Amino acid sequence: MDIVTLGNDKLQTTSELITDINDELIFLIEKMFVSMYQNNGIGLAAIQVGIPKRLFIADVPGSKKVAMINPVIKEQNSDLQTYEEGCLSIPGILADVQRPSKIVVEYTDEKGKTKHLKAKGLLATCIQHEIDHLDGVLFVDRIDPELRLQKIQEFKHLQKRLI
Ligand code: ZN
Repeated sequence: MDIVTLGNDKLQTTSELITDINDELIFLIEKMFVSMYQNNGIGLAAIQVGIPKRLFIADVPGSKKVAMINPVIKEQNSDLQTYEEGCLSIPGILADVQRPSKIVVEYTDEKGKTKHLKAKGLLATCIQHEIDHLDGVLFVDRIDPELRLQKIQEFKHLQKRLI
């Protein structure tokens, strides 16, 4: 599946709730895992492959791989942590982002069961990064505005060199 990159309006879309977990959705999840691994990612939201549904997948080192349908952050602590984030939709760009260090996320799994997951460290950051995608927010939207512009310029420059 082609990954949508910065500059495409789709990345600003608010994704819609999933009401039906059917074979098509399960197949989509499988295809998303293939794309994520091909691109050496640790997380991928459906909107990044152009599908505006509230779904993401993650496979963070040290944690079980997971597909989360309609995820919602139920709790987050006030302590922030910083990780250098990247994004398959903004290849080549990295920036430090601060986010709550511990969260509890509620989601539906592929079998339609409601689940809760407590996450900390990189997994907590990854889940928050992916849920942001479902609301049309990118990690560069969470950094200092001047640095954001600089990072976007850097990305455009990289893209030009590829053409
Ligand atoms: Zn991303």
